[in-house]
Amino acid sequence: MPELPEVETIARGLAKRVTGDVIESVWLGQKKEPLKSPAAEIALVLERSRIAGVRRMGKHIVFELDRVGPVISPGNGHKLKKAGGGARPTAQWIVHLGMTGRLQVCDPQTETPKHTHAILKLSSGRELRFIDPRRFGRLSVASSGDFDATGVEPLEVNLEQFVELFRGRKTPIKSALLNQKLLRGVGNIYADESLFRAGIRPRRQAANITREQFAKLHIALKEVLREAIKLGGSSVSDYVNADGEEGFFQLQHRVYGRESEPCLVCKTPVKRVVIAGRSSHYCPKCQK
Ligand SMILES: [Zn+2]
Repeated sequence: MPELPEVETIARGLAKRVTGDVIESVWLGQKKEPLKSPAAEIALVLERSRIAGVRRMGKHIVFELDRVGPVISPGNGHKLKKAGGGARPTAQWIVHLGMTGRLQVCDPQTETPKHTHAILKLSSGRELRFIDPRRFGRLSVASSGDFDATGVEPLEVNLEQFVELFRGRKTPIKSALLNQKLLRGVGNIYADESLFRAGIRPRRQAANITREQFAKLHIALKEVLREAIKLGGSSVSDYVNADGEEGFFQLQHRVYGRESEPCLVCKTPVKRVVIAGRSSHYCPKCQK
């Protein structure tokens, strides 16, 4: 599953490639699961919209849209909001890649892969396609442009806010890091890696962690995410970047997926435990 760094990499790649392009028409497949908003609404919002930008929010890819065509009578409460200063109405297209979703920018002649659920024809002559074999990915629109993912952005949170998120929480710190209502977009790999760097065991109760340790964790989490973004994401599975290239250079995991292998710091075998149904990896010597 693509994690925050992969989604950031994909969003940046897409921003470079499609910003300024206009969506001329939209084709949506028959499968219901990928469509979180009704098909008609997705088509209404996307068609004749200019892509003003692409960014990541948590693990969502958000396309900021400007309406360029005649605004079709919205009806049913789907009001297209006027942006500040009486500018053009804005809306958003939100893509969550799920497990195996990917976005492809290509020439129309490129063979359409199996499991393509959406094709956007762009005024540049290219197509933007959404492909997802396992169909855990989701497409939706926010016709008023006010989409907001839950939780705070881990790369933007300051130490005070960070400590506050975990105050009084009796759950293991690992579960709290994965709780999307607290931090958006932190997944299993980066939770394990940041806990290792901060020297905190994944099972430690969040409420019992000292401020000093939180300060270390706050730095470590940003560090691992930034390193992974720099390397272009570190995904393991089926996923392709915005240029259609497969495989990303992988951040060297210090504990994640290294059960029984020697800790890179002290050579103690890395342990694996299951916390709230998720595998957690840690060094019993380096992490307290
Ligand atoms: Zn160790």
